[in-house]
Amino acid sequence: MPFRLAALLLVLPLAALPAPAQAEPAEAPAPAQAGSRGEGPEEPPGAEPPSPEPAEQTLAVAPGDTLISLLLAAGVDRAEAHAALLALGTVFPPQRLRPGQEVTIRTAPEEDSRLLSLSLDAAPGHTVLVERRDGRWVAEEARVPETRHLARIETGVERGVFPAMVEAGLPPNLAHAVVRALSHRVDFQRDIREGDSIVVAFERLRGPDGELLRHGRVLHARLTLSGREISIWRREADGEVHWYDDAGRPLAGGLLRTPLDGARISSRFGARRHPILGYTRMHSGLDFAAPAGTPVYAAADGVVESVRSERGYGNVIRLRHQGGMLTLYAHLSRFAPGLRAGVRVRQGQTIGRVGSTGLSTGPHLHYEVHIAGRAVNPATASPPPPPALAGRAAAEFHAARHALAAQIALLARGREEIALAAE
Ligand SMILES: [Zn+2]
Repeated sequence: MPFRLAALLLVLPLAALPAPAQAEPAEAPAPAQAGSRGEGPEEPPGAEPPSPEPAEQTLAVAPGDTLISLLLAAGVDRAEAHAALLALGTVFPPQRLRPGQEVTIRTAPEEDSRLLSLSLDAAPGHTVLVERRDGRWVAEEARVPETRHLARIETGVERGVFPAMVEAGLPPNLAHAVVRALSHRVDFQRDIREGDSIVVAFERLRGPDGELLRHGRVLHARLTLSGREISIWRREADGEVHWYDDAGRPLAGGLLRTPLDGARISSRFGARRHPILGYTRMHSGLDFAAPAGTPVYAAADGVVESVRSERGYGNVIRLRHQGGMLTLYAHLSRFAPGLRAGVRVRQGQTIGRVGSTGLSTGPHLHYEVHIAGRAVNPATASPPPPPALAGRAAAEFHAARHALAAQIALLARGREEIALAAE
């Protein structure tokens, strides 16, 4: 059987060529097989009956469409559609289908129009496919080769660091990463002034024809605040990502000044008149006004001490950290799934969502920091800094930092992008 197939592949392309006056003897070895289909190389081209080709259809995804609804509308049998989508689910979660995507299906030419295959671009350069092979559905994915490019933005930040970066062309998820990393050193509520600016260096991943497939990682950012520069560098070691300053000191290990994005301080630390209880008392934390549902991040690496509902605090999380530090997050609408006492959390990990549970006048996060059992002002609290990189790790970090700085300098002089070595 494999031999016969190979012979057919040899013969058919020849038959499609402009007919030579006479078949060359060299073309002769095939006839035994070709003849068995009732055709020979002697047949003039065009006289060959068209081989039954599977019908191919491209289905455009409209808002509200699901994969199953698309397949049924295209006339695919329901049981077949289910079997194909079950296999597809191993490489493409169906809920990731978006309006504007295109789904290509092939169906058998016979009357039963059996589904033969289904493919779609899960993301630019990333194709997923299910195909019927020997009566079974087989899922596959293919990615075009990617090349890494270094790009750079520079912008003023008077109207807010996050919106400024996005307007300058940085994708929102990368802009979030920058804000989160910088929030170890910067209080975005207070520190931004007219004339402040930021530079961000990040990766763009391009396909073989130079097409943009996706954005990669932020590698460096430099924020200039009233002449003071805060420079951060990404370093990956042992599968972990950390940010370091120019001196090789880690940024993590400290405390996120603002454990959520896009919030403003609505009540500061210290004595104040309580909005509900009416009398003056100590406000033992900071309040951040933010829409209900806004993700709340762990302010530092640590272990969950408690996750529960209390009368005043409402839904409240307490995290224990190194150095006898504790952080508290109150009035939450929801806890992150799986969060319970004893669970380890990473700095920046979402632990819950802003809400208005307990004694609260509206959606906000009440955030406390305790050091050695005493509530301290989260805006100024500073746990002891972790040690800087040393030895070989430090040497490697500074070599990589200088190489990247040289490339960023080229971009600053007008180069659009620089191709980076594969990793
Ligand atoms: Zn409060």
